[in-house]
Amino acid sequence: MRGHRPDPSTETSETEPASCPYCGGDNTERDHPKGPSLCRSMHYCRDCEEPFEAFQ
Ligand SMILES: [Zn+2]
Repeated sequence: MRGHRPDPSTETSETEPASCPYCGGDNTERDHPKGPSLCRSMHYCRDCEEPFEAFQ
């Protein structure tokens, strides 16, 4: 049964949004779920419209 609350099991990701290195904002999205390296991932800043790598 679906309630009105968002399902935390689907809304919560394993990683929180990465901060953009250009503007420092968190209006970013992950470009790829997982890269070839587990210690870094590709993100995309919607504000700067620039891709960047985030290290975890
Ligand atoms: Zn940015």
